[in-house]
Amino acid sequence: MRATELLGWYEHARRDLPWRRPGVTPWQILVSEVMLQQTPVARVAPVWTEWVTRWPTPSATAAAGVADVLRAWGRLGYPRRAKRLHECAVIIATRFDDVVPSDVDTLLTLPGVGSYTARAVACFAYRQRVPVVDTNVRRVVTRVVHGVAHAPPSSRDLDEVAALLPDDDTAPRFSAALMELGATVCTARSPRCGDCPLSRCRWRERKYPPATAPRRVQRYAGTDRQVRGLLLDVLRNSSAPVERAALDMVWLTDTAQRDRALHSLLADGLVEQTPDGRFALAGEGEPDQSVTSAPDSVDPDVVEPQANRRR
Ligand code: SF4
Repeated sequence: MRATELLGWYEHARRDLPWRRPGVTPWQILVSEVMLQQTPVARVAPVWTEWVTRWPTPSATAAAGVADVLRAWGRLGYPRRAKRLHECAVIIATRFDDVVPSDVDTLLTLPGVGSYTARAVACFAYRQRVPVVDTNVRRVVTRVVHGVAHAPPSSRDLDEVAALLPDDDTAPRFSAALMELGATVCTARSPRCGDCPLSRCRWRERKYPPATAPRRVQRYAGTDRQVRGLLLDVLRNSSAPVERAALDMVWLTDTAQRDRALHSLLADGLVEQTPDGRFALAGEGEPDQSVTSAPDSVDPDVVEPQANRRR
């Protein structure tokens, strides 16, 4: 893969995303990377902009209540990310003097920061030459280098992408360009090879052999994730704890599924149960610690334990 081709294309084709603009801090880049996990750019951009305006630093985020953070997260999905981001802010504010660590190993010790996010922050915020591999990057490399349409994650991914990085200070820009190409041109369903800047691509040269295994498509409708989202919406929109009946109303299709979803929200610490049996966002329920501290101690009269409970 020729770096000059990719870098030249990126110069004029890159999207003007808010977290790429001058003046954006490492903390704000970390927030964007956490939000972008599994959530499209178009949904993240307005939430991120509002978030960093309201809480520009780790200490500002740490000073907010968990419930405020969950409300600001809105409908980005996977709300445990919001709670972990808050925990991450607390640690950076108290142990790292409000400065996001720059080395991958230290970043990996932070709540909610995994292999991808740690490397993305080191690369995009601190301009380090480290491989960053997300779904888009993996797809481009799989097609260009291996000549196949898709490949599952592999332990070789990081080494493979590291070998492609330029040896000079353009490496972080190359990583961003590779990701951008996968997001906007070499897409999963309909790659626009006519607009691709790369002169060599093994998949194209092999006449696009189809994938041997079907791609797994995540559905949302009818899943526990959808029910959790509906339950959280009720609590986000209420300034006071709500009765169980208000939650029961949101999902009548499968009451066992609804109970399981509520139980998982309690277990994740996103929702609290008040001593009188009502429900609230974390931090707003004046919780009885004996009820909410462990999933197995949830009042069985309020949330029935499920034989096939899923987390
Ligand atoms: S030529 Fe087509 S398949 Fe190959 S990298 Fe470019 S867009 Fe992707």
